[in-house]
Amino acid sequence: SKPAGKLSTFLDSGVYRFEDSTAVFIDPVRVLNRSYTRFRVSPSAYYSRSFNSKIQEPRVCSNSRKRKRKEKKPQTLNDRERAADQRHQEARPFLLKAHKSLLRSTELLEVVSNLRDDFDNSASSPGTAQPLVELGRVWQAPLYEITLNSQSHDNASEDGGSPVMEYRKQRAVPVFNNLVVNETSEDVEAELLGSRYILPPESSFYMSDLGQIHNLIPESDCGFNLIVVDPPWENGSAHQKLRYSTLPNRYFLSLPIKQLCHTNGALVALWVTNREKLRGFVEKELFPAWGVEYAATFFWLKVKADGSLIGDLDLFHHRPYECLLLGLCPGEATDDNSRSKPIPDNQIMLSIPGDYSRKPPVARFLQEYSPTLQRNRCVELFAREMTAGCVSWGNEPLHFQESGNFTRG
Ligand code: SAM
Repeated sequence: SKPAGKLSTFLDSGVYRFEDSTAVFIDPVRVLNRSYTRFRVSPSAYYSRSFNSKIQEPRVCSNSRKRKRKEKKPQTLNDRERAADQRHQEARPFLLKAHKSLLRSTELLEVVSNLRDDFDNSASSPGTAQPLVELGRVWQAPLYEITLNSQSHDNASEDGGSPVMEYRKQRAVPVFNNLVVNETSEDVEAELLGSRYILPPESSFYMSDLGQIHNLIPESDCGFNLIVVDPPWENGSAHQKLRYSTLPNRYFLSLPIKQLCHTNGALVALWVTNREKLRGFVEKELFPAWGVEYAATFFWLKVKADGSLIGDLDLFHHRPYECLLLGLCPGEATDDNSRSKPIPDNQIMLSIPGDYSRKPPVARFLQEYSPTLQRNRCVELFAREMTAGCVSWGNEPLHFQESGNFTRG
């Protein structure tokens, strides 16, 4: 296909597939916007952190000498460092090749440098987010309700010449420890304690602490065929501790992944940090405890608006990439038809990072590798946003749904 065709595909879908490598460039804003009908995710809100600061990733140490020492590859490596280095060396050629593909695509780069200013730039600013996690902890939490204002119109009368009928429906439901569903095929505006939120079509959220996660386990034969997990791993970063609380690894062993899987099986996608100790834990303990068989590793390579990497590829403690580990939960029905495409290893997803720790939206992208169902069912654990057709669970799944992140479409 001609480059012009690929660029226009990117402008529609938010995904640019490079011809000569297993890499894609993603504009999360465009990908997310495929979920919405009446609203649009504002690029200036999404990319607010990435376009104006000199450096993308927060630095933990203010002491620059300490930083230098931390970042240089240690002279002599201990076993764990050697294993980490080997992992990096194995991924390096794929990462470099993907980055080269981006740098060669001049037409794409030009669009990328302006991603923040796409669409309407008069966007409202995200402002200060309502502290959902704290709200869920107070004694009044069970009393808090969210009001959903759905709007739909009757298209049937359109060619009859009569005015289009508009229906407005309002309902209030408990916001914590409750599955809140937008079952309509339109965006829904919701209100909670004076803040407004936008819920994409056919999406739902369950806002609770880990202790309530068993309420997501499906009762009958359904279950999910795609499970995306982004746990609050401990990593000793002071910066991170200000954003959200973390949990020791043992808490994740008891996540009911097996019970959430569809009887036909499920694709499990787990975001991990580059700490070698964590990788060992996932491979030897976590995946086995979940009943997940490791299948492949995808990489998220972070770039700036000018296409350069957000940091030196070879800095030992600050890699400009994160890993998404993919595994399969085998289904009871080992029916060949229920398995879709085989998962390629070492796929690279390039994008400009949004807010701190915000991952690019991968659900739709991964769906093609999950065991097929008539109707895809996906769940995201520890989510901070919602996606059309998905269930989002965590203690702040409404975080990025606040209306300040959107403009009217
Ligand atoms: N995937 C998200 C995104 O792209 O924006 C980021 C998720 S972040 C790594 C982890 C999330 O887990 C945070 O929203 C945090 O508040 C939440 N979390 C931490 N402890 C939790 C707990 N005990 N129960 C539920 N959620 C928790």
